[in-house]
Amino acid sequence: MEKKNPIIGVIGGMSTASSDYSKKLIYDLYRKETNGEHCPCLLSVDLDMCEIERLQETGDKEALFQKLSFAATCIKQADFAVLCTNTMHEFSSAVSDELPFLDIRKITADAVRAAGIECVALLGTAYTMESDFYKSALEKYGLKVVVPGEESRKIVHQIIYKELINGIIKTESKCALINVIAETQEKGAKGIILGCTELPLLLDNSLMMTKAGSVRLFNTTRLQAEAAVRYALNV
Ligand code: GLU
Repeated sequence: MEKKNPIIGVIGGMSTASSDYSKKLIYDLYRKETNGEHCPCLLSVDLDMCEIERLQETGDKEALFQKLSFAATCIKQADFAVLCTNTMHEFSSAVSDELPFLDIRKITADAVRAAGIECVALLGTAYTMESDFYKSALEKYGLKVVVPGEESRKIVHQIIYKELINGIIKTESKCALINVIAETQEKGAKGIILGCTELPLLLDNSLMMTKAGSVRLFNTTRLQAEAAVRYALNV
């Protein structure tokens, strides 16, 4: 009897732009790993990003937790889940309480360590760069984490919320992001975590050259998709 195809639970990221990107990566990788013989079974849920954004702005953590609990309940038939947003990992226990869960912070930390890098820059939303829930998780895995200065954090946050979430890709924003990366290299970062699932829509190289030299980028959307496919296929 043929092995049952596992069901991958996908909670969107949380914009449509990143949800589509995550699902496409999972789809393509799954087909590749199964030599085109299978497509992944996905059970996915997308929440209202506009509403999520308002709750993030007002800092209503209880409501954000409840939103994720609801999303997890919707995909409970899945064999395991991924949450395609770094920012909302602050509330990931709402998902891991419901079903087996792959945490993007651990996936990312493992990839950075496997690359032999100890000091990384964390780029993402202001919530991700400024709160402790992401940095401390990386530090727990033995990494040293630097974040950009205040002005640069604002720039990255604006690019995510004003542009990428709305599917807007601008060359000048790409240049701005490269300058922020160079700033963190000057602070000692040897690798850069694109710790927002929309950021790779702007910059998806794995190695890049800035005015501060060459640097390795860690695309959390891709790393998560690879981990989900590996877990689903048990490889
Ligand atoms: N996708 C984003 C992230 O990875 C931010 C948008 C959101 O808050 O979900 O952090």
